[in-house]
Amino acid sequence: MYLRSLELQGFKSFPDKIKLHFDKGLTAVVGPNGSGKSNIGDAVRWVLGEQSTKTLRGNKMEDVIFSGTKTRKAMGFAAVTLEISNEAGELGEAYGAVVSVTRKLYRSGDSEYRINGKNVRLKDVTELFMDTGMGRDGYAIIGQGRIAEIVSAKSADRRDIFEEAAGVSKFRYKKQEAQRK
Ligand code: ATP
Ligand code: MG
Repeated sequence: MYLRSLELQGFKSFPDKIKLHFDKGLTAVVGPNGSGKSNIGDAVRWVLGEQSTKTLRGNKMEDVIFSGTKTRKAMGFAAVTLEISNEAGELGEAYGAVVSVTRKLYRSGDSEYRINGKNVRLKDVTELFMDTGMGRDGYAIIGQGRIAEIVSAKSADRRDIFEEAAGVSKFRYKKQEAQRK
């Protein structure tokens, strides 16, 4: 499983639609301060369902929408699509060799999630990545300060990270879901 591409439109400092292609192996994003490197990482978190505006380095969710510059007016929505290679079927056989996940947010507050172009709920996106380590709370994205956070975390919180790595979280989640019904 690896990231194949990331398409942004109206997300933070990227008003125009751009598509970044990643190959297998290591990709580094370089550029001057303030050029949008961290915004690319934020886009990956966001499309995976991040709900914490603090984690996304903003105050409200609307802050992810391009807010305009001196020469360019603000956008009405932000949209991000992430394509993930699923050749080995880690995300389930049902989805095919490439899985695409889209999230779109309008200034009105309306939002959409899509998996392979089909409208889904946030819950479906969360479930898709559960136990892969790639989800919103996974360890695949290590932000600044995250290592210190893990080391100093309460033991119960640290256990969540190990459970995600071991592939146990999905079962705990399914049990909670079943008990709720
Ligand atoms: P550094 O090297 O300092 O870490 P960086 O390349 O990681 O820099 P980012 O933090 O990704 O930079 O980008 C910051 C820029 O993104 C700022 O100029 C900020 O104004 C711009 N930005 C963030 N949110 C928005 C938004 N909603 N609309 C327009 N621009 C935005
Ligand atoms: Mg940065």
